[in-house]
Amino acid sequence: MVEGPTAKLYSIMINKALLNGVIEDIYVKSRRVYIDPKKLLGHRLMLSDTYGKNILLRIDGYGIRIHLMLYGSIHIYEADEELKKPFNRVRLLIKFPDRRLVVYNAPIVEINYFRNILDSLKSNLGLDPLRREWNKDEVLKYLLKNGDKKIGVALLDQRIVAGIGNILRNEILFRAKIHPERLIKDLSTEELNRLIRISRELSREFLRIKLKKRRLRDLLYVYNRAGKNCKICGSKIKFYMQDEINRKTFVCEYCQRNRPSLDTFII
Ligand SMILES: [Zn+2]
Repeated sequence: MVEGPTAKLYSIMINKALLNGVIEDIYVKSRRVYIDPKKLLGHRLMLSDTYGKNILLRIDGYGIRIHLMLYGSIHIYEADEELKKPFNRVRLLIKFPDRRLVVYNAPIVEINYFRNILDSLKSNLGLDPLRREWNKDEVLKYLLKNGDKKIGVALLDQRIVAGIGNILRNEILFRAKIHPERLIKDLSTEELNRLIRISRELSREFLRIKLKKRRLRDLLYVYNRAGKNCKICGSKIKFYMQDEINRKTFVCEYCQRNRPSLDTFII
């Protein structure tokens, strides 16, 4: 599953190769085409950006939204280079003067007015730790509105925080020393603030690592480390599937044990 930082990496790659390029031709295979794609011809790619796990292309007033989910990928080819995958897997192909942008297998390719795409994302998604609008007080409000949810479930809910996938979820919770089964309403303000701060820091760190083409594995404390020793306390990392989301969950029961805040003991 593509997480926010991976989507961001794709958008950086697109900007580097194609920014300001004029669209000469376009092919799209999708049910979410809301305006005639031919209207985009002759317009420039003004910016590629992301919102959560969505990759956005701004083409003057028009926009394209791509969601890669599990199997999608984006490739940039020279004008005379052959496609590396069969054409029946192409969901979007944009021809620029000297390069082509090709999206394979993506379940979502939307073509619409850019404003419509952005408005719909803003009303359906929570704040994104890799976007400028990220605001810790707003995120705290979003979390508290979902007090009855388990924190391990809420972190994957894109309506609460956008762009966090399963690897980030596990690693954020470990670093924040919070067990995924705890309810949001039972977390102290200090714990929630720590979680929010780490969500942003770690998302940025993942992006930096990907930009340097370094392996993410060295950064992982718990993800895919079932049965191995915790790098902090030495206990065995436990693995289970968390209910409701049915996703791989890794915890150190010692580091992520419930620590009642000190004021609980003041009578
Ligand atoms: Zn530990």
